[in-house]
Amino acid sequence: MEVRILRRLEAKNEADAAAVRDLLAAHNVRAINIMGSPGCGKTTLLERVLPRLQPRFRCGVLEGDLFTARDAERIAAIHVPVIQLETQGSCHLDAALVHRGVCELPLADLDYLFIENVGNLVCPANFDLGEAARLIVLSVTEGHDKPEKYPLLFARADAIVITKMDLLAHTNFDLPAAEADIRKFNTNAPIFHFDTQTDPGPLVDWLAG
Ligand code: MG
Ligand code: ZN
Repeated sequence: MEVRILRRLEAKNEADAAAVRDLLAAHNVRAINIMGSPGCGKTTLLERVLPRLQPRFRCGVLEGDLFTARDAERIAAIHVPVIQLETQGSCHLDAALVHRGVCELPLADLDYLFIENVGNLVCPANFDLGEAARLIVLSVTEGHDKPEKYPLLFARADAIVITKMDLLAHTNFDLPAAEADIRKFNTNAPIFHFDTQTDPGPLVDWLAG
């Protein structure tokens, strides 16, 4: 019985993701699904990248969290339209909730939609949200073993950002080992290095390109 219910949920998510994808395509909006651990720097990355994209492109954000609107408040503070998706304890976003969020945004006025997923390296990888690209964030404080432990997330990435590079010398994070492990599962996705002092230009160019 449980297996049957799971299949139905997956089928439902696929249909919802297709609806999100159609809606975004109709408005020519490109959606980026951002995934990574709690505290890896997803919101901070958005705070740095959005002001660099905004002059050329109109951006909107959906912020996924179990509880609170703290991240949405940070995005609103930089004057980017944002909707908080509160999952009420669920550990990932699903396409149905994203669909509701997308319907609340001024799609006709947007070029890019950033969806910050719930901080989690496991099940978000399994839920298509109707995105055009998947951006994975990994901080050096998490340990270089994460790509091997969570291969699905890295295998399905379109780009990977390694954050908190300014803390590298204070950790035992083995950067070449982490990147070699990522390449076992993903040969194509560009890998960017980032910290709050780094110029986010290369990542901005990738997003804009
Ligand atoms: Mg966040
Ligand atoms: Zn989950």
